[in-house]
Amino acid sequence: MELRIAHLYAHFLNIYGDRGNIIALSQRAKWRQIEVKVDAIDLGQEIDHEYYDFYFVGGGQDKQQIVIAEDLLKKADALKKATDSGAVVLSVCGGYQLLGHYYKPHEGPELKGISLVDAHTVAGNRRMIGNVIVKREDATTLVGFENHSGKTYLGKGVNALGKAIVGNGNNGEDKMEGLAQGTIYGTYLHGSLLPKNPEFADLLLSQSLSRRYGSQNLKPLDDKLETQAHKRALTLPA
Ligand code: GLN
Repeated sequence: MELRIAHLYAHFLNIYGDRGNIIALSQRAKWRQIEVKVDAIDLGQEIDHEYYDFYFVGGGQDKQQIVIAEDLLKKADALKKATDSGAVVLSVCGGYQLLGHYYKPHEGPELKGISLVDAHTVAGNRRMIGNVIVKREDATTLVGFENHSGKTYLGKGVNALGKAIVGNGNNGEDKMEGLAQGTIYGTYLHGSLLPKNPEFADLLLSQSLSRRYGSQNLKPLDDKLETQAHKRALTLPA
């Protein structure tokens, strides 16, 4: 089997080491003898929506978001077709914000999003910075840290990734963090997210592989270190 990864705007949206998500997902595949191909998809590059299994878009400051917002609109149709056919998208912070209908930064015009997810974001007047613990519906937890002023509001009926039991999450008001819409995931968790959240990483890996190879039963890995890091993060204050 081969996992095909598209890393969108790898050189623009990689704040707080978000590319660690690509490294973690790739390694968890390789440990299972799954081949991995990672392509950086930059400004002006087209996407073959039938080719990739997993798309990643990381976080960035407002000025980077302004640069890519227009380009992302040109990729919207391909990303919609890709996710309609079961490809997985993981988006973090700035990238997450642009998958919604719009992001209104502090200064300057509103940035049009690609409406891949039913959400919108407006810049708040305080930065939300600190450790975050998310409790998912299945009672598993996600850990990471956040650094954003954007406040994201989910559309009616759109599932959050979970409840922010420590930290702000989407907007510091409704205690929701992130978004899970089909195989599309958004989160404010930098960290990077996947290394310290191995169960979630494997969920994304199996969903990505099932697009072309059918449902997966991934061989368990020795996650001693990852679990240790996760448990340590659970003890950190906001
Ligand atoms: N510029 C956006 C905000 O401040 C996203 C920041 C980020 O990606 N960490 O909300």
